[in-house]
Amino acid sequence: MKKLCLSFSNSKNWRNDIHKKMISEDWRELRLNILKRDNYTCQYCGFIAEKWQIVHHVDGNPANNEEANLETICPMCNLIHHSGQGCEIQGVVDIFRESSYSQNEIIKITRKMRAQGKNDLEIIDFLSLKEKVPFKMKRHYLKNLYGFVTSRKAGQDWTQKGLEYGYKIVKITNISNQRSIDKYL
Ligand SMILES: [Zn+2]
Repeated sequence: MKKLCLSFSNSKNWRNDIHKKMISEDWRELRLNILKRDNYTCQYCGFIAEKWQIVHHVDGNPANNEEANLETICPMCNLIHHSGQGCEIQGVVDIFRESSYSQNEIIKITRKMRAQGKNDLEIIDFLSLKEKVPFKMKRHYLKNLYGFVTSRKAGQDWTQKGLEYGYKIVKITNISNQRSIDKYL
């Protein structure tokens, strides 16, 4: 898996990117090819789902549709990678200065704990997320911080549906015992 870090896209690309993707037949076909290539697997947390996965541009340039520049990412990791969206537009991501886990692990653990019905405070406590700090559009500032996808409702409906689908899938498929930390990873 690739290392996940808080990051953001240039805000002028946010709307154009989505609009452009929606209207292009070519993009739909390319998107499906990438999902199949990646076995519908998020390249950052390993989450597999046939619905609601996102194909995103590795270099942040929505015009660069080379296959090497495209990869599958789940809705949760996408909100961390595009934390301007996650924090400012969708309003679902909180940022902390400290955690006992990596950003990739935080995503996996959050998804599983939420699927088990744990609330945000319980998950934050388990992850030892400490000292909440504001979002800033500065990569060097975000780089060493940790994003947490809260249970707040996302600003956009499709994001909310994608998140809920992920929690539902994990709930259905996770029938392992609950004794160790391993259950979350
Ligand atoms: Zn992911």
